[in-house]
Amino acid sequence: MTALRGPQSEIADIARQARELLGLVRESRWPGFEPAAPRSAPRPPEVPVRKTAGPTRPTAAPTPALREEPCPWSSLEEITLAVSTCTKCPLHATRTQTVPGEGSATARLLFVGEAPGAEEDRLGRPFVGAAGQLLDKMIGAMGLARDRVFIANVLKCRPPGNRDPLEHEVAACIPYLRGQIALIKPEVICSLGRHASHALLERKDSLGKLRGRFFEYRGTPLMPTFHPSYLLRTPADKNSAWKDLQQVMKRLGLPLPEQHPPTEENNR
Ligand code: URA
Ligand code: SF4
Repeated sequence: MTALRGPQSEIADIARQARELLGLVRESRWPGFEPAAPRSAPRPPEVPVRKTAGPTRPTAAPTPALREEPCPWSSLEEITLAVSTCTKCPLHATRTQTVPGEGSATARLLFVGEAPGAEEDRLGRPFVGAAGQLLDKMIGAMGLARDRVFIANVLKCRPPGNRDPLEHEVAACIPYLRGQIALIKPEVICSLGRHASHALLERKDSLGKLRGRFFEYRGTPLMPTFHPSYLLRTPADKNSAWKDLQQVMKRLGLPLPEQHPPTEENNR
């Protein structure tokens, strides 16, 4: 005789089946944040990331006037140029080249990492090493393409041996990132890891406390989540990171995996 099972275990079973159906937690998929499962209707290659014209974002709270120092640059190219000759902190002496950041100047979503690593320093591009490959998969899983978002770091030069950024380096470099944010005006910022989250939020809570909910950076919603390098070392936390990214998708009006294929409306 089959033992009677309580409603809780049935609910747990249904939830597990649903997760498996979505393919979100199966080991075979998770190691890489594979892009969202194919849908019945073919998905366009990218979810276009176009600015919605119109009034300010609903989440935007009035920003204290004191914090709104004007952006001294008028384009991202100007920032890239300024960074390329920057000697404001000692990291200029050990860099191979600067890594200003890259992506769409009209991106709705901005990812902010910590600092270039060896591969980034070599190529002059952000997130092109192992962590970058995982970030690409995370972006793909959101239904986005790398060239439709913007990817930047707090520091534009590599700290020797990939050590943590020092406070005076962050203080010297952060105006460039603030300038990039002011020019791009993303609708959502996703800070990757403790250093980016601390630098932008100017608070030092543990990432465990910060991640998974929206904060505001000068009126723009900011979601702290795990850094891809950490996720490579701690794959068990990919599930939580995916939840954070889904909140970001929701905020941007992007279709979530369990929803129907994108419509004309949300594809604009
Ligand atoms: N880690 C970062 O924080 N940024 C990069 O660009 C690469 C690795
Ligand atoms: Fe300038 Fe930033 Fe590089 Fe330091 S890390 S030299 S502040 S660009």
